[in-house]
Amino acid sequence: MLELKHIKKYYHVGDTTTKAQDDVSVAFRKQEFVAILGPSGSGKTTMLNIIGGLDRYDSGDLLIKGRSTKDFKDSDWDAYRNNSVGFIFQSYNLISHLSIMENVEMGMTLSGVPAADKRQRATDALIRVGLKDHMHKQPSQLSGGQMQRVAIARAIANDPEILLADEPTGALDSETSDEIMQLIQDLSKERLVIMVTHNPDLAHKYADRIIEFADGQIQHDSHPHIEGDKEDQFQLKRTKMSYWTALKLSFDNIRTKKGRTFLTVFASSIGIIGIAVVLALSNGFQKQINKTQSEAMASMPVTISQVGTDTNSMMTGTKATKFAHTKTVTAEKSDADKAQHVNKLSQSYINYVKKMPKADAKNIAVTYSTGMNLLREVNGQYKSVTFSTNDPDNSSSVNTAALMASSTGVGGSVYPIDRNGKQSFLKTYYKVIAGKYPTKSTDIVLVVNKDNSLNINAMKNLGFNVKEGQKYDFNQLVGTQVKLVTNNDYYSQLPTGTYMPGKDYTAMANAANTKTLRVTGIIRVKSKNSDGLLSSGVAYSSALTKEVLDANSNSSIVQAQKSSATNVITGQTMDASTRSTILATLGGSKTPSSIQIYPTTFKLKDKVLSYLDKYNKGKSKADKVIYTDLAGTVSDMTGGLMDAITYVLVAFAGISLVTSMIMIAIITYTSVLERTKEIGVLKALGARKKDITRVFDAETFILGFGAGLFGILVAWLLTFPINSVLYGVTGLANVAMLNPMHAIVLVIISTVLTILGGHVPARMAAKKDAAIALRAE
Ligand code: ADP
Ligand code: MG
Repeated sequence: MLELKHIKKYYHVGDTTTKAQDDVSVAFRKQEFVAILGPSGSGKTTMLNIIGGLDRYDSGDLLIKGRSTKDFKDSDWDAYRNNSVGFIFQSYNLISHLSIMENVEMGMTLSGVPAADKRQRATDALIRVGLKDHMHKQPSQLSGGQMQRVAIARAIANDPEILLADEPTGALDSETSDEIMQLIQDLSKERLVIMVTHNPDLAHKYADRIIEFADGQIQHDSHPHIEGDKEDQFQLKRTKMSYWTALKLSFDNIRTKKGRTFLTVFASSIGIIGIAVVLALSNGFQKQINKTQSEAMASMPVTISQVGTDTNSMMTGTKATKFAHTKTVTAEKSDADKAQHVNKLSQSYINYVKKMPKADAKNIAVTYSTGMNLLREVNGQYKSVTFSTNDPDNSSSVNTAALMASSTGVGGSVYPIDRNGKQSFLKTYYKVIAGKYPTKSTDIVLVVNKDNSLNINAMKNLGFNVKEGQKYDFNQLVGTQVKLVTNNDYYSQLPTGTYMPGKDYTAMANAANTKTLRVTGIIRVKSKNSDGLLSSGVAYSSALTKEVLDANSNSSIVQAQKSSATNVITGQTMDASTRSTILATLGGSKTPSSIQIYPTTFKLKDKVLSYLDKYNKGKSKADKVIYTDLAGTVSDMTGGLMDAITYVLVAFAGISLVTSMIMIAIITYTSVLERTKEIGVLKALGARKKDITRVFDAETFILGFGAGLFGILVAWLLTFPINSVLYGVTGLANVAMLNPMHAIVLVIISTVLTILGGHVPARMAAKKDAAIALRAE
């Protein structure tokens, strides 16, 4: 069955050499009970470990069923220990954090025996050793004799052909020793049993054969055996611990030291908590900043007006610091006036602006100061109306011409149309409280204040007979129609040559070129913190202005005004500036009154500005176009600062993460030291190096994953008090917001870092020599 041929095993410690096996040759039968007797230190355990594949011989050969083991690989030894050998130790070596059943099952667990089969065989083994009534206890609840019975059950559960026992009764009283010996003798009827003992009485009483050992050599053999012909070739079934088993082993182990585990998890999670809270805060602040900035942008677009203010020249304009001693006074423009700059809003400039990348500025509104000829039917009668918010009762004259000469437009607010043709501006910043968002250029809306108040003058100018405080149902306003009449239909030329608005409003309202404008909805600004771009009253799309302009720019009144120095309506003379205003109001000017550019994000505003600056490069002072960047005061620095603070804080929290990684490494190392015996036992049962690594990796996985989850949970809970404090201090709600993506990534980081930290000690554990591990106390 087994044959040792000239086995040598020397230990070298310092200068001394211990010959633990000094040329040992011996053979064992397939079935016999062999007792090895000898003084302490004579090499008995070493021999048993070599036979059991726990220790390697230096030279010679061990033949198993005639097969040499010289070429055995680690995996062959692992399988041999698992399939063919059962070990019993003096100190039982049960794994204390596993139940009795699980201890007995471990060998089969390692070789992947199905659960039900495993349970049956373990139960059989426990009944065989007489522990029928103690099967469901924990190892710590048993007496020494009972623990040794469990160890025996574990050794025979896989039904090995060889049972190796190293002083199995060494720790037991004589009565219990006898019981154990009887059990072992009984088991030797079916297999080869080799037992080391220092008790000659027991050896003589129970064993079939006694080998006396001293100084690493066999002194006497009571019943020697010569190995005959080769027996049937022996087969080995490879062992493989599943990840699940590794996880369960670690989990059970962790469970036995709850306090320590909790402290470890808690300490390791501090880094995660720190990072998670920092990220949650910066996340929330960034969102707040972005929101505020985009709201700021809605009411403060980059604006290019006909007359701009050159802030640069204002800054650089040097104020005189010295007192003058002349006897004269010099006429001089004020600094503000000097900074006034007339922008040439030529078609080529407008084209340049319109070519701006769409990604940088989604909305560009080109506003023209053209008037509109508007009529509304009130009580069956059409009357002239406007979108203006000027007080109609206060104006000195209701004369249209005078009104036109003083106003620069039709009134009301103009909102931009998305350059992709969509209505994103209103949808982003305004909420519809009645009706619908406008879709066509002829759709107009009423803008109300946050308290749903509507400018009374706007209502009066629209022809409503309204008193202050009067309330209107939404449906009294939504659906209101206004007729937009072209110049040619609206004005008629008198014989004197001047033009007058016609009197037959009904005919105008029904003229072919007249358009019907319809109030589709009532809108209100979304943000609590912004008043929005549109003032209370009527608002219409920039596309409508463009259409009016196209319809009227060649009308006869415009042509007449273009060729006349006097006002074609009043016949009065006027200066050049009034003339151009009149012309613009009549729709005769294609020069915009202003251009508004809405950068897509606050950051992109810089790109918009540099695009505009590029136009001015190399141009003479007069040809330059100067823009106003009202939002410029809300510096982009806040964003950059936020990033910087976040990096610093994450770095600090990251340090604690690294600290906890080192801590996990130390804890794993301690655990490895503590569990040295267990490692030896697992190896004796046939566990591979990989399996041992897996057990410890599984433990660090549990710790790291637990720490990650715990950290995220605590961080999430912390966001509530943090938010309530921040709300109290700043008035901002829900600032700290944990991004689920961040949470997942942090749990992964925590898990990976701890596994990394624990992996080195885990590898050390795997490399541990089984024989040495089992000698450890
Ligand atoms: P026994 O079991 O008969 O008491 P052992 O087989 O345990 O003896 O030991 C035989 C000899 O080998 C002893 O002198 C022991 O000190 C020595 N020995 C065993 N293991 C080691 C080791 N890992 N390193 C050095 N010496 C060892
Ligand atoms: Mg020994």
